Formats: sequence, C-alpha cells, structure tokens
Amino acid sequence: MMNRNQKARKNHSSMERTLTDQFGMNADIIVVGGGLAGGLIALRLNAVHPQKKVLLLEQGQRLGGNHTWNFFGPEKETLWFEELITKTWDALDVRFPSSERTIECRIHSLRPESFHETLMKRLGRNVRLECAVVEISDCHVKTSTGEVLRAPLVIDASGISPEHTTHKTFAGAPCGWMKFIGFDLKLKKPHGLQRPIWVDATVPQMDGHRYFTCQPWDESRVFVQEQFLSSTPDLNHARISRSILAYAERAGWEVESIEREETGCRPMPMHSLSFDKTPKVLEVSGEDFEDESPIAISSRFGWFHSSTTQSLPDAVRLAEFISSLEQLRTGPARADLRDYRKNWIEQQTFYRRLNRLIYRAVEPSLRYQIMERFYGLRDDVISRYFAGMSDRADRPKIMGAKPFVRPGRATKNWADDSATTPSAETAKLPAEI
Ligand SMILES: Cc1cc2nc3c(=O)[nH]c(=O)nc-3n(C[C@H](O)[C@H](O)[C@H](O)COP(=O)(O)OP(=O)(O)OC[C@H]3O[C@@H](n4cnc5c(N)ncnc54)[C@H](O)[C@@H]3O)c2cc1C
Repeated sequence: MMNRNQKARKNHSSMERTLTDQFGMNADIIVVGGGLAGGLIALRLNAVHPQKKVLLLEQGQRLGGNHTWNFFGPEKETLWFEELITKTWDALDVRFPSSERTIECRIHSLRPESFHETLMKRLGRNVRLECAVVEISDCHVKTSTGEVLRAPLVIDASGISPEHTTHKTFAGAPCGWMKFIGFDLKLKKPHGLQRPIWVDATVPQMDGHRYFTCQPWDESRVFVQEQFLSSTPDLNHARISRSILAYAERAGWEVESIEREETGCRPMPMHSLSFDKTPKVLEVSGEDFEDESPIAISSRFGWFHSSTTQSLPDAVRLAEFISSLEQLRTGPARADLRDYRKNWIEQQTFYRRLNRLIYRAVEPSLRYQIMERFYGLRDDVISRYFAGMSDRADRPKIMGAKPFVRPGRATKNWADDSATTPSAETAKLPAEI
C-alpha cells in the first residue's frame, strides 16, 4: 500500500514525465556547466519552480571545481543560498606599508566540498556528472556520447577555460591579471587570527602589486594565498609555494600539512563593453526567432566584476533574475536578459576604466598605492565596490583614491580604449564581452 506522500510523489513524477515527454523534451531546463553560475542557477530554479525538471550537466567529476569563493554581502540568513556558505566574518584587516586598519563589513566564504555536497543533495538525480556537452543550441544539447537532450530553456554556464585566455588576452584584447596560488594550511598550534587578513601588502612588491591573504577556517587551519595584480598571466609555482611557506613561518606558524592547493589566474578586462543598438536578429514580441544560441550566463561570457574578477555577485543576481521570468523559454529569456544587461554594462564600464588606470596610467611598482588609498575609503563604499554595486556618489571617491598619476596619462587612459578594443579576428568570444 502506498501512503499519501508516496502517492503524491508518484503523481508528481508521472505528471512531470507527461509534460516533458509530450513535446519530446527531456527536461524543462537544461543547464550546461556545474560550476558557480550553473550550480547557483540550477539551485535557484529548483527552489522557485519545484514542479520543473532542471537538468544540470557537468563534464567533471564534481560540481564547482576547486575554488573557494568569497563575497561581501548581507546577513547569511537573508540569502537563499545560505546552506552553501561555510564561513562568515564581520570584519577584515588590511595592511599596507604606511597604514593598516580593520574594515567593518560582512564577508562570506563558500568552499568546494559544501558546494558539491549541497547541490547533489538538492538536485540529486537531475545532476549528470562526467557529461561533456559537445553541441548546444537554444533547445537542445548533444553530449560526447552522442545523446541528444531537449528542453525549452537551455542555459550555457560553461566557464572560462585556458583557450579563452591565451596570448595574454581575454576576448582578444589585452588585459590585466589577478593571479594567485593558495594553500589550506593545517598548523601545529592555533594561529591566533580573529578575522581574515584580506590584504597584507607589507611585503616586497614585485610583478605588479603583490600581497598575501589569510582566511582562518578554524583555530588551526588557515587559507594563505599569495596574490598579484600583474600585467602577465604567468605564475612561478615553485617560487610562490616556497614564498607562502616562508610567509607562514614569519607569522610564527608551524605548518603540519598542506591540505589543499588552489590556483587562479583571472582576467581584468580593459576594453569597452558595447551594447549592440541595432540587433541583427528579428524580434517579434520581444522574442528572437533567428538566434539559435542558448542563453549565456557564466564568467566566460563576461559576467563577472571587471576589477575584482569575482563572479559570485553576478551569478547570484542572474540566478534570481532568470528564475523570476514569466516565460522559461530560451527566446523570451534571451530578450529579457538583453535588457537586464544594459544596466550591468553601465556599471562594468566604470570598473573597466578603473582597470585602464591601474594598468596603463600607473607604474607597476606603484599599483599598491592605488589599493592602499582605496582601502582607506569608508566601509560601505568598499562593500558596494566588491558587490559590484558602486553608486554614482562612490565612483569619484574610488577614482579620487588614485595615487599621483601624470595628468596627461590619466586623461588619455581614462577615456581612450582604442588600444584595448578587441579585434574581430582575434576575439574568441562575442565582442560585447
Ligand atoms: C581559483 C579561483 C578562485 C576564485 N575565487 C573567487 C572568489 O573568491 N569570489 C568570486 O566571486 N569569484 C572568484 N573567482 C572567479 C569566479 O567566480 C570563478 O572563476 C567562478 O568559478 C566562475 O564561475 P563560472 O560558473 O562562470 O565558471 P566555472 O565555475 O569554471 O564553471 C564552469 C563549469 O562548466 C563546466 N563545463 C565547461 N564546459 C563544459 C561542457 N562542454 N560540458 C559540460 N560541462 C562543461 C566546467 O567543468 C565547470 O565546472 C575565482 C576563480 C578562480 C579560478
């Protein structure tokens, strides 16, 4: 005998099958790429539309890869992805050669283990791991095994891969780089840190702006990273590994083991974003009938903060936006996303100008001064900057925080992006990235 819950589940799953099978569909929504953007949107869609089948396809063996994601945000309890958050701090320290301070702001951290485990728990049977997609359109995907899956809404959430950042460019244009190596260290004795050291730039400057970050997970575990704002993407793994251990030693910490390593090299684009005012596609009732591409939401398509390189705030906002759409079909969703993108472009234009100033108007050895002055701003201005929500009043303060830049260079680099506009031939990504 089935109980009431079992009956309800059976009815629900047969209804689900009917809906999807009726039109030869395998799911209501297919998300390609189980990284940050794909995982978050699948989680949100699943929560807001429990009756819809959201299929998440990931080529790797785990969701989320090997990242620790930090972001500045409101109280944990107010966030819909609260269960993904591993650790929250209410303040952080910054240290520069001639100043140091504590910034009062809330910072959350997501770790790879909890990202994978929570999503598997929530999405379970609708996650396919080791499933590489080789072909994708607005209504279907083809996997490497030749299987074709169809859905009315297809979302491309495949992230940036090395092929997008070769030849020291991103989207075919020169850019700056935020790069780092980090170690999760287990120490023999407690480290004594109350909160993260977000920036420790009291170290010799090299390869642009060089600094360390320390995030305490518990009393004897700490994530130590050596980071650079650099003009090149190269990382000297052997030198940096030694340097991280030497930093820990100088802090008086005795390392028992290195539990995990993380490496990152993220582009800081400088070229202008353009919004195509004369769409080539035929639009009827806000829907594209000619564009057969899926909607694109990951960092690969430029959805990240151009100056911090963080993508979590954008991934969260996109997940909320798309889940709230009335029509969960690729055509209408693409049209809505195009409107949504206009405001985002306006914000990113400011951050990209900031990058031009950092990388083109200031000597590499003086980059730390830009950051030192920036971290002297009010706590709320800093929090909004990291959230990618700097308002118009914040912008002159952020730009005013620059060190002494020769006026000619500043004016030229602020306005002129001709040297950094991607050429159509070299661009590996759509020009609007
Ligand atoms: C080491 C590191 C640390 C970072 N830390 C932060 C941070 O603290 N805060 C922050 O906001 N940002 C951070 N970023 C920047 C950015 O948030 C991350 O890169 C983020 O993971 C980007 O999310 P994404 O979904 O766009 O791409 P990814 O997370 O890379 O996800 C893309 C996924 O798609 C899968 N995929 C690709 N192609 C296919 C295919 N054909 N078929 C199936 N699956 C496919 C990939 O395997 C991958 O899992 C960090 C980046 C790095 C590299």
